[in-house]
Amino acid sequence: MKNRRWASVFCAILILALLLPLFGRSPAQAYSDPYIRIGLAYGNSALVSANLENSVGTGYRLGYFDDAYNFTALHTTYQSQLTVLKDSNTYLSGGTYSASVPSGSYSCIGAYHIQPAGTYGSEAAATVAAAAYNGGFPAWINGAFHVRIGCYTNQSDAENAAAALGLTDYSVVGASATAVTVTQTGTTEVLFQFDGGTSTSLAVMPGQDDSEKTVTWFKGYRYYGGFQYKRLNGGNLTVINVVRMEDYIKGVLPYEMSASWPLEALKAQAVSARTFAANSYYKHSSSGFDLCNSTCCQVYRGLNSAGANSDAAVDGTAGVYMRYNGALITAYYHASDGGATESSENVWGTKLGYIVGVIDPYEADVADKITRYHWTMSYTSAQLTNRLNGMGYTCSDIVRVYVSEYTPTGNPKTVTFVDSAGKSISLSGTAMHNAFTISSLGKGLGSYRFDITGNGTGGGGPVYVNNGEQISSLEGVYVADGDGNVTALPGNEAYVIDGSGSVSSVTAGSGGTSDTFTLIGSGSGHNLGMSQWGAYAMSKRGYTYDQILHFYYTDVTLGA
Ligand SMILES: [Zn+2]
Repeated sequence: MKNRRWASVFCAILILALLLPLFGRSPAQAYSDPYIRIGLAYGNSALVSANLENSVGTGYRLGYFDDAYNFTALHTTYQSQLTVLKDSNTYLSGGTYSASVPSGSYSCIGAYHIQPAGTYGSEAAATVAAAAYNGGFPAWINGAFHVRIGCYTNQSDAENAAAALGLTDYSVVGASATAVTVTQTGTTEVLFQFDGGTSTSLAVMPGQDDSEKTVTWFKGYRYYGGFQYKRLNGGNLTVINVVRMEDYIKGVLPYEMSASWPLEALKAQAVSARTFAANSYYKHSSSGFDLCNSTCCQVYRGLNSAGANSDAAVDGTAGVYMRYNGALITAYYHASDGGATESSENVWGTKLGYIVGVIDPYEADVADKITRYHWTMSYTSAQLTNRLNGMGYTCSDIVRVYVSEYTPTGNPKTVTFVDSAGKSISLSGTAMHNAFTISSLGKGLGSYRFDITGNGTGGGGPVYVNNGEQISSLEGVYVADGDGNVTALPGNEAYVIDGSGSVSSVTAGSGGTSDTFTLIGSGSGHNLGMSQWGAYAMSKRGYTYDQILHFYYTDVTLGA
């Protein structure tokens, strides 16, 4: 009896435990994967003609999006290949469309069309009416369905054709700066024409409805989602991929980090890429899209390089963003920190509470895998002297360069340059970076983690004491030990031990000045935020993506 009662209590607890997660999840917390607009062809690369081909899915719906990305279909086709053209005289030769008259034989899709009077109540009615004419097609012009006939290169050809058809109540419409023409690829057969003025652009949604997750070829790459075509200032076609955020991140991740890397590192990168994207919406709004597909924003090439591993990293972090004090962060990352990251104010001058330098004990695990983990860069006195004068710091020959202040993580905060007249120039942050950046010679900092050696390649330079003065001889120099005991150097010789334990003699006394300075550094990039190789090393040690992100980004929260 007693046992049975306990059994039923346990049973009730079990049922409650099973039900609680369901009740605990409110519908408001469900992640609605937002749309994002990615420019695929824009600016100088905007197109006269843009082809699509079904990879997964059948045919297309032609229509437009409202501001909330609700799609209205105006026309559907089962053609697997279609081409969107700007409405201007366009020439077709050898399957290729062009704006100029090609050599050899060609056919033409002209910008002049016959438009019989009257509008139609539906696309179906316009299509039926258009079929009565050879070369007739339906058109959606500023909210109304019309029939249009033919594509002529000039007004009189269109007038003559209308007369031959016996039409009396019609107009001839010429090229519109906002119209686009849709053809069956490689032909002059017009499927549909669209002109929504400057406010409404043609959108193409692959597939006959939303039941199938479509994949579509555009210029050699395969994309999820739909496409939008804008003619900015009446120009060529700006082609935009309208895609869900998670599908977009799947097309970014393998370009930011190798899809063969450990899953937790990829997940950390996915959260960074997603956060960057959400924080950069409308970056290209003047061009009619949110983000471009190049390094200007994030490289995005659709599905081509995505794999099961990178897709799993995106799915495994779907809807997770990084925030600091409630606001999306700018998730800076770099290839390798060389042993420590750096605070933003020491690199770019602007303090960000979540970009705080940390000593990285993980990355060195995989140093042998990292290209350019160790780097050196040598500068002659003349190069640095020219550079500093070019930056507006008047100086004579630079004879000494040294790190005069380090950050808490051991990276150079300030570098001091001393010229032959004894003038000191101390530079930090971007100015320090710029002093070492001589693009014409291909010289620059590999990272923000380095030391400076080699006050001269030939002969000993002077020895400097801690008040900045030079001494030309070690004769009569005293040294202090850790207990404060002061001892005279036994001879004109002293030794120093560097960070790797190498011992070298200090050779003062020649009084010579140096003409070559060598920066010896580790790491690759700006040392801000996450080190990608550090993430790799942490994941190899068993850390999860959230632990990786919390290590490299200070006081951030992860969530929707
Ligand atoms: Zn961009």
